[in-house]
Amino acid sequence: MQELFKKAWKKILESKNIVLAAHINPDGDALGSSLSLYPILKEIGKKVTIFNVTKPLPMYLDFLPNFDKVTDKLPKNYDLLISFDCGSFDRLGIEERPKFLINIDHHISNTNYGDINIIDPKAASSSQVVYNMLKANNVTIPKESAICIYTALVTDTGSFQYESVTDKVFEMAADLVKCGVKPDFVAKMLFQRDRLSRLRLLAKAYETIELCCEGKVAFVEVTKEMMEITGAIKDDTDTIVNSVRAIASVEVACMLREDEDGIKISLRSKNYADVSKIAVKYGGGGHIRAAGATIKDEFDFEKVKNMLKNDLKEIVKIEE
Ligand code: 5GP
Ligand code: MN
Repeated sequence: MQELFKKAWKKILESKNIVLAAHINPDGDALGSSLSLYPILKEIGKKVTIFNVTKPLPMYLDFLPNFDKVTDKLPKNYDLLISFDCGSFDRLGIEERPKFLINIDHHISNTNYGDINIIDPKAASSSQVVYNMLKANNVTIPKESAICIYTALVTDTGSFQYESVTDKVFEMAADLVKCGVKPDFVAKMLFQRDRLSRLRLLAKAYETIELCCEGKVAFVEVTKEMMEITGAIKDDTDTIVNSVRAIASVEVACMLREDEDGIKISLRSKNYADVSKIAVKYGGGGHIRAAGATIKDEFDFEKVKNMLKNDLKEIVKIEE
């Protein structure tokens, strides 16, 4: 990995016009990781574009330094594209292959679509991979970058709750605090600016919770109608599946959301089930404990639930 970090940094130093990009519908890690390199690359005189196809961007991340610089327009000519937290090239929303691509990620399902691929499935966040790359090259981390790296870490570890959280993660968090991050500020920005519409949506969604497989599997539904009645937006659905997983008996929680193009499934497991396999089966991807997919042109919730029940009933039987 150290070799890759050095090779990637060398390529970055050699490039003039750099695009930083993350996956469609970015989460804290995707956006935080891509924003984290912006001040560092600007400081060393690079022309930098932060690209994301999603409109509007999730507003709960608007406190991240340089959030306002994100654009959905690519420059005409650029030397290097760095992708963050993105498992496959098509999720970037970029048609043409760039001249050179550095792929920085921690998804187990990453398809290695870059010219340099720095994939660490053990990393708690893609921002940890970025952090390790900066450290390997003795780069000083400014406060603006530290806030982005730290926010990405907090969001992707469920506030330091997951198995991915190691001594290294806490060492990194401590170092980022030394770089100027105020953890209470990040926590307040992320978790104390809730929208009333989100709470109203939660109330409706929770009513649909259904348990099966001896209580080990839970389904929760979000329909278009619920979103319309409550005035909720897609961002408001982000954490529903996590709170359903919190039910004592549940190993796998699954949210089904009615989207324009089909049913979006979000899968979360607690202790032993590998949900990334199921997401991949439906054309999606993710991690062992958090994965997702969109089942295109399918709008029948019961049908999708039955398919998932079939996939999950054996998986949740095995206990470690
Ligand atoms: P969520 O359920 O919150 O949308 O996503 C959980 C994890 O699965 C994230 O790491 C996300 O990047 C990944 N994921 C969600 N939907 C898709 C998808 O359609 N394709 C791929 N490749 N990954 C997805
Ligand atoms: Mn991530």
